[in-house]
Amino acid sequence: MSDTTLRTPTLLSLVAPVYDEEELIEQFIGRATAALADYEFELVLVNDGSSDRTPELLDAAAAGDPRVRVIHLSRNFGHQAALTAGLEHAVGDVVAMIDADLQDPPELIPDMIARWSQGADVVYAVRKEREGETAFKLATASWFYKLFNKLAQVDLEPNSGDFRLLDRRALDALLAMTERSRFLRGMTVWVGFNQTAISYQRDARHAGETKYTLRKMLRFSLDAIASFSHLPLQLATYVGLLSAGVAFIAIPVVIVLRIVDSYLPGFSSITIAILLLGGIQLIALGVIGEYVGRIYDEVKHRPLYIVRDERNRPTGAGHSPAPAARAGLSAARHREPIG
Ligand code: UDP
Ligand code: MG
Repeated sequence: MSDTTLRTPTLLSLVAPVYDEEELIEQFIGRATAALADYEFELVLVNDGSSDRTPELLDAAAAGDPRVRVIHLSRNFGHQAALTAGLEHAVGDVVAMIDADLQDPPELIPDMIARWSQGADVVYAVRKEREGETAFKLATASWFYKLFNKLAQVDLEPNSGDFRLLDRRALDALLAMTERSRFLRGMTVWVGFNQTAISYQRDARHAGETKYTLRKMLRFSLDAIASFSHLPLQLATYVGLLSAGVAFIAIPVVIVLRIVDSYLPGFSSITIAILLLGGIQLIALGVIGEYVGRIYDEVKHRPLYIVRDERNRPTGAGHSPAPAARAGLSAARHREPIG
């Protein structure tokens, strides 16, 4: 795009999920506000059911600065749901998402806005280095991205987190995806548009510790893979075909061995075969179960999150999200009319 058509954001929304971050939330708000001083902006902080002093600190920040909006969820709904809540409530024409633990530097956002001005619709930040992360986290993250890119149809940049900036059009496309198990960084790639990467140095967490337990991480990875790939389901077919093929070949072999009288009867081989096949069948059932469980979650159509309270909600028509959206992804929006 040429310089004459450079666009500037009318209102920038910066969305951050916050869960038990009392040690650093004030510092985060300070740094984010300073980094965005040149822009008209709103900071949308989603309190994901924190049980420490975070809610009071957030309310105090909102009382002191009308640009700081706070959305209190009714309990802990998890990172991706909290992020979705923030994105649904954001009213800006450009929306950025960031972690509140200062691992993602808010100072990078002006650079991301510059890319947007030049015509990019989605600007995602790729971590050059990741400081202060355990070797285990780095290794599992790298395996995950490799596996995900093998299985899924979207090309996810390894080491890209949720730190990204979206144009309103891309955000609306993203919010039209109403699935319950949300892998937002994959979904923002899936929507397409003009995507650009920008690299940065990922800092260590400033205080507190990761809110992602090993269990949460595993669930998150399974969600990601199951919502972007059917390959695990199809795998059962291939393994089944293979073992059935082996059995069919084994039949004539056994007959021949009987005839030439060199057949060795053995219980152990039978036992191993039964265990192997039984194991494969159970694994296949488990894989189907992972998908059926997710289908069940989708069919129930529960809201993704529930808002308990809100601070500094923008007033005026077109500014507040539809009432249905406030209780999570609107079910009514996507339901067929009754009667
Ligand atoms: N977070 C959240 N709900 C959760 C877990 C995390 O809102 O259930 C927030 C957390 O406060 C932080 C961001 O999501 O702002 C990323 O979490 P964290 O830093 O613990 O993840 P990591 O960087 O270790 O992957
Ligand atoms: Mg973190």
